[in-house]
Amino acid sequence: VPLEPYPESKSAAVTAVMRANRKTDSGPEVRLRSELHRRGVRFRKNLLIRLGSLNVRPDIVFTPQRVAVFVDGCFWHRCPEHGVQPKSNVSYWSAKLDRNVRRDHLVTSALTEAGWRSVRVWEHQGVDEAADEVMNAVQVSDA
Ligand SMILES: [Zn+2]
Repeated sequence: VPLEPYPESKSAAVTAVMRANRKTDSGPEVRLRSELHRRGVRFRKNLLIRLGSLNVRPDIVFTPQRVAVFVDGCFWHRCPEHGVQPKSNVSYWSAKLDRNVRRDHLVTSALTEAGWRSVRVWEHQGVDEAADEVMNAVQVSDA
């Protein structure tokens, strides 16, 4: 089977949607930020953190507590419950998703080395549960 070039047609449309999603706020991020606001904690969104050669832009950042929060999409980050194996352009998507997961691990360990605490929540998690996890991390770091 020849290697797929950059996918066209249907996949190109999907890619465009996903690219737009990445730039703007996705639903679960917005819901989590609103809930954290409601709980009265202050945070920055999309703050760039430079870790050597690695630039990281977590969805939510608590600067004084050094807590970085990522809301991971089930498809893009291969959620064990909802991550599906792509059925078309398999080699393209598998490689891309593998890269995402590797980067997630890289980012988490780079943050840890730099003294940050990472919180990764899945987009499928309820907003209350996600907010609880974030609050726990922030309060531990406050203590
Ligand atoms: Zn999921």
